[in-house]
Amino acid sequence: METHNCGDESMFIAKHTNNTVVTGVDWENHVKKNGAVNPRLSCPICAKPVERSGSVNHVVNYFSHADGTLDCFAIESASDSHRLGVELTVKALYNRVREIFGLPIEIDVERRVGDQSNFVIADIRMSSPFQIVAEVYYKKVYLELVRRLQTLFANNYQAFIIFHTEGRHDVEQVEQEIQRIAPLQVGRFDPDSLEVSLGDLFSREHVPVSPAVRDLLPIHIR
Ligand SMILES: [Zn+2]
Ligand SMILES: [Zn+2]
Repeated sequence: METHNCGDESMFIAKHTNNTVVTGVDWENHVKKNGAVNPRLSCPICAKPVERSGSVNHVVNYFSHADGTLDCFAIESASDSHRLGVELTVKALYNRVREIFGLPIEIDVERRVGDQSNFVIADIRMSSPFQIVAEVYYKKVYLELVRRLQTLFANNYQAFIIFHTEGRHDVEQVEQEIQRIAPLQVGRFDPDSLEVSLGDLFSREHVPVSPAVRDLLPIHIR
């Protein structure tokens, strides 16, 4: 989670009637090929209808809630870059889970996992069909990875850990450091190609989260 403050933005992603999540670019290509026949698009987070946004000042500002309410990603991010990573990670996660396991899928952004005294705020929280969190790291200095995974695992969540490739941390290096405790690959969001790889799923079975293990990691990762 990285706090934020922007007002007039739109979403880059929307859910198509065939239940895949598309970007504005995907949608334009689809319309070119098939025509915009009764385009019923909805928000992948709250399911409200969305429409092509009025403000076309940026390629990634594309869809907004048709009722004019603030879009579901507007509360989320510190920056457009982080927000874009979150949106494209929602797309990747939604489409992968749908392809393999089908519907229904419940997914939300900036949601709490845990109780009052011990919780994390997850960038993306899927509650059905699985409990999965996806975290997008961009400018955050201290990742608090073990602390966060402890809380997630204790609440029966697994996690995808995604790094913005132009963020604060050198992704290759952080990945090698994480591999001191678990042989897993992190995910990557490349803002140039707009591609997201989710990486491996971090689960209780594969990631030991004891204090001793924590000490094997550099301070910015722990
Ligand atoms: Zn984040
Ligand atoms: Zn929404």
